[in-house]
Formats: sequence, C-alpha cells, structure tokens
Amino acid sequence: MRLVRCHNCGVPEGQEHRAGCPVEVCPGCGAQAVGHRCRRAAGLLRVPFLHFPSVCARCGAIDPPWFGVPDVVWTYYVAPFEREEIVCEPCFKTIVRLIDRYRPRPDWLPTKAEIATYRAVWSRFHRSSLRGPQRRRLAAELDALEAAYSPRRSADKTHKSTARRRTSERV
Ligand SMILES: [Zn+2]
Ligand SMILES: [Zn+2]
Ligand SMILES: [Zn+2]
Repeated sequence: MRLVRCHNCGVPEGQEHRAGCPVEVCPGCGAQAVGHRCRRAAGLLRVPFLHFPSVCARCGAIDPPWFGVPDVVWTYYVAPFEREEIVCEPCFKTIVRLIDRYRPRPDWLPTKAEIATYRAVWSRFHRSSLRGPQRRRLAAELDALEAAYSPRRSADKTHKSTARRRTSERV
C-alpha cells in the first residue's frame, strides 16, 4: 500500500504531526487535538499520523472523491444497511441507472437538474479553503435545498444526514 504524507503538515506516516497541525487527534477521545484540553488524554502519548483510506463498499475503490446528493435521493437509491457506507460516485451512478431501469422515478424525487444544482453547491461548500460567512452562506443554501427537495410525505423524519456527508466533514 502506498504511503502518504499528512496533507496539512507534511509528516510521513508513523511520525507525530508538527505542532499545531489540525489533523492531529486527541489520544484520549479522538477529537481534533489543536486547542483541545482533555482529561482522558492525561499520561497518553500523542497520536502519530497514519492514513486509513476510505473504501467504496461496492467496488473497493480507495479514497474515492467525495460527492453530495440530497438525502432524499440517497435514501431512495441506497438500502438501509448500506446508507452508512461509502459509495463512490461511479458506483452511485450505476445504482441509479439499475434501479431506474426497472422502476419509474417517483415524482417527489428531485429532478436530475435539481440534483445537479445541489451537487454544485455541495462541492463549493466542501472546498476546504472556505471559511467564515462564505461557508455559512453555502451551508444555509444546502439546508434550503435539502428542505425544498424533501418529499411531501412528512411522516418519515428519521433520516438525518448520511454517512457520506458526515464523513466528508473530516476531509
Ligand atoms: Zn499533520
Ligand atoms: Zn480529548
Ligand atoms: Zn465504487
């Protein structure tokens, strides 16, 4: 397996991060270590940098690029047990194609154009350089789209954001 370097401070795998690197985690609780004080970390050694790749649950692609779709689309196409998994974009497109082939898209599902709009906002939001008001504005825009696209059937409120979105916050 190819070794990588910390994308932030540049240390090789196995070495401790440079001081103040935001990628370093607390040895006690796993939270971001910078600016964090934690009783559980007392007496523990710092956590060296190691990369644990994300893997597409369907094809095994390693560290596929992240992408975003509205929750309602994700839960329509991805079965309950797989929703917490990572699925690469080519595999997600295949899943969509396979299901659409045998079942007409329900009309409460966002259109392909709406999904493309969401995707574009999502990509801008997840650019790591984005900070402050710009970031908050895009987050609000995403929430608004999510709300606009959520199906008119209001009974099902159990779906929160998916793993694909939560895990992407780490990057
Ligand atoms: Zn680092
Ligand atoms: Zn901690
Ligand atoms: Zn895949």
